[in-house]
Amino acid sequence: MKEKVHFMEFDQSFDGSNALSVDVEDYFQVWALQDYIDRDRWDSLECRIERNLHRILQLFDDANARATFFWLGWAAERFPGLVREVVERGHEIASHGYSHVHVYEQSQEEFRRDVSKTKALLEDISGTAVVGYRAASYSINGSNLWALDTLAQTGHRYSSSIYPIRHDHYGMREAPRFAFRYGESGLVEIPITTVEFFGWRFPCGGGGYFRLLPYRFSKHCLMKVNETDRKPAVFYFHPWEIDPNQPRVDGIDFRTRFRHYVSLDRFESKLVHLAGDFRWDTMASVYAGIL
Ligand SMILES: [Zn+2]
Repeated sequence: MKEKVHFMEFDQSFDGSNALSVDVEDYFQVWALQDYIDRDRWDSLECRIERNLHRILQLFDDANARATFFWLGWAAERFPGLVREVVERGHEIASHGYSHVHVYEQSQEEFRRDVSKTKALLEDISGTAVVGYRAASYSINGSNLWALDTLAQTGHRYSSSIYPIRHDHYGMREAPRFAFRYGESGLVEIPITTVEFFGWRFPCGGGGYFRLLPYRFSKHCLMKVNETDRKPAVFYFHPWEIDPNQPRVDGIDFRTRFRHYVSLDRFESKLVHLAGDFRWDTMASVYAGIL
């Protein structure tokens, strides 16, 4: 018999702050390009993280926005000073795993080692407690919810690793749309924001959708979440999305090219509007009442 999955949703209502997040990885580490760039080439490629993060930090300062930065351990090891600068400028450090391996490609033991190592590394570099985790490419779904228990056992307090939509490579449509506690370990999962129109659920928490659609539509969706659902929104993006001049990867198929490069030139101006139109805080602050 199939075990019943236990999700406990919170009665938490919206107090005016939304959660902003940045997944700190570079253009050559994203899922869409992984078939084209071997991991052993990462060290030889031009890294744009430092340049892009400085732009993002300035933009956040200008809008008085605070955010959670989910760092790859790989990136933090290369830019320890930048990790500390992010902390000094008032933001939260969280974990994106060490090297962007999907959770569904790891055994439970490999996952435990990966998240333990990355948490310790980030705490050592940042001098702050690391309690949040986000899986590479939202790779926690109905098939590997054990990962949430492992996160609790390794000292994490929340995960933001489930996109509660149906997508060709990720997503868990049956998960709740808003923060919930999972199973006996009690880890809090904070899904990326979706919006519902006439019972249909759509992603509105970042990614290619935000780049592709007009900003006013994204704004409308996020406001609907705040005003109709009375819940905070969780928005995410990557440093490479504000970088239209990033080195182009040759030989990729049309679909991948479209997904990665669509509307990069308009992203930064949209982000400026987004940062100014809503109040943004770290995941740990927005969800402090339930963590
Ligand atoms: Zn990622």
